Amino acid sequence: MKPFPSQTSVLVVGAGPAGLSAALALSRAGVDAVLIDARERIGHPMRCGEMVFPYYFSVLGLEPRRQWLRWNLPKARMVVLNRPRMEFELSEIIASRGVGVYSGTPLVGLGPFDGKGRCAKVLWKGKKREIYAGCVIAADGTASVTARLAGLDARLPPGRVASCVVQILSGAKPAMEDSYFVQPVAPFYFWVIPNGFGRLNVGLGVMGTEAGRARFLLSRLAAATKAFSGGKVKETFCALMPARRPMAPLVHDGLMVTGNAGRLMDKGGSGILSAALSGRAAAETIIGLNGADPTATALEGYVQRIDPLLKRLEALWDLMETGQAPSPPILGMERGQLPPQYLEIGP
Ligand SMILES: Cc1cc2nc3c(=O)[nH]c(=O)nc-3n(C[C@H](O)[C@H](O)[C@H](O)COP(=O)(O)OP(=O)(O)OC[C@H]3O[C@@H](n4cnc5c(N)ncnc54)[C@H](O)[C@@H]3O)c2cc1C
Repeated sequence: MKPFPSQTSVLVVGAGPAGLSAALALSRAGVDAVLIDARERIGHPMRCGEMVFPYYFSVLGLEPRRQWLRWNLPKARMVVLNRPRMEFELSEIIASRGVGVYSGTPLVGLGPFDGKGRCAKVLWKGKKREIYAGCVIAADGTASVTARLAGLDARLPPGRVASCVVQILSGAKPAMEDSYFVQPVAPFYFWVIPNGFGRLNVGLGVMGTEAGRARFLLSRLAAATKAFSGGKVKETFCALMPARRPMAPLVHDGLMVTGNAGRLMDKGGSGILSAALSGRAAAETIIGLNGADPTATALEGYVQRIDPLLKRLEALWDLMETGQAPSPPILGMERGQLPPQYLEIGP
C-alpha cells in the first residue's frame, strides 16, 4: 500500500462528478495531483436520480462504457447512469494515470494560504496526516467541509436546503415505457426514473422545513399521479441538495469551489453536469497557470470559464424568486388537488 503523500500540486477533495471531472482533466495533463474522498468505496452508496444528458461524457472526455448506463431515455435525450459503477471505475482510470487516489480519507483541516499553497489535514487509516497542496479544489458536495474550513459561508439552514426522500422499487410498472416522469411540485421536484430492468427510482425533494412530511407527501404524490403501479420497496434513503444561490466568490487564494460545494445546481435537482463542468474548468484553470502562484487573482479564470453556467443558474433563481417559474403551494398537493399541468407524463 502506497504511503499518503506529504505534498502535491493540487489536492482535489471529493470524488463525485465535480472531483472526478477535475482529477480526470489533471491526470490527462500529467499534473501532480491527489484525489481524496471520505467514503470507503468511491461511488458507494449513491444518493441520486442519476439522470443526465449524454454530453456529460464529452465533458469528462471519455466514451461511455456499457456498464455505466442503467437506462436510455430517448424522448428526453437523456440517460440514467449507474453512478456507483461509473464513479468507481473513473477513480481507477485516474489512478492508472498517476494521480494518487485515496478513499476513506476525509479532509479534517485546512490552513491559510501562505503565498504558495495551503496545508491540509486528512484522516488516513484513522490517523491524522498533513499534506501541503499548491491549490485545493473543493468538490466535497452539499454543505462542503472544505469551504467551511476555509471560512466560507457554506451554511444551509432548513429554508435553504432541499430535503429528498427516495425509494428504489423493484417489480413496479411505470405508466409509460421508455420514459421518465419529473414534475415541478413546489418548491422542488417529484420524480420517477427507471433504475434498470423492473426497477424505479421514485423520489421527492421538499424544502428542509418540510422534511418531516416528505415521506408522506411522496406516497400521496405517487398515488395521485399514477406514474407507476405495483412494486416492492428495496431501499429508502434521504439526501440533501443545496437550495441557495451559487456561492460567491468561488475563488480564493489557493482554493476553488466546484459542484454542489459551490451550490452550482438549480432548484430542479440537476447537478451532475454542472458539477462536471465546474470541476473540469477548475482543473483547466490550474493547467493554464503554467507554474504561477495560485493566488485568487491568478485563479479568476475559473469563474470566467463557468460564466455561462453561473448566468443560467442566476437567471433560474431570478425566475423562481419573482414567481415566474411554476411553484404551486404544497398545500394544494396535500388536499389531493394537483393542478392538471402537474399530471402530464413524460418530457
Ligand atoms: C436525491 C437526489 C437525486 C438527484 N438526482 C439527480 C439527477 O437525476 N440528475 C442530476 O444531474 N443531479 C441529480 N442530483 C444532484 C447531483 O447528485 C449532485 O448535483 C451531484 O452529485 C454533485 O456532484 P459533486 O461532485 O459536486 O458532489 P457529490 O456528488 O455530493 O460528491 C461529493 C463527494 O465528496 C465527498 N466528501 C464529502 N465530504 C468530504 C470530506 N470532508 N473529505 C473528503 N471527501 C468528502 C463525498 O463522499 C462525495 O463522494 C440529485 C441529488 C439528490 C440528493
